[in-house]
Amino acid sequence: MEKPTTSNQIFIDPVCLMKVAPGKKNLVFTHQMRTYYFCAESCRKAFEANPDKYLESMSPKRKGWWGRYLERLNKATGGKPPKCCH
Ligand SMILES: [Zn+2]
Repeated sequence: MEKPTTSNQIFIDPVCLMKVAPGKKNLVFTHQMRTYYFCAESCRKAFEANPDKYLESMSPKRKGWWGRYLERLNKATGGKPPKCCH
């Protein structure tokens, strides 16, 4: 039985930081007693492989650092997006 009060909740995909509605039950990952929702299977797998990396990126304090890191990673990988799926 689903509770209707939770149906409008929006979660943030910690990998690509998209807003995700918790509708797809297969795109859920539980880490340290918390449940995270993802926009796609590839994001869920990326998080599963290295949860701490993405949890750090969700902290606003580190946003500037994270942006620079992604930029550097982008160059290092020859422009191939290090995140997500879209
Ligand atoms: Zn995603």
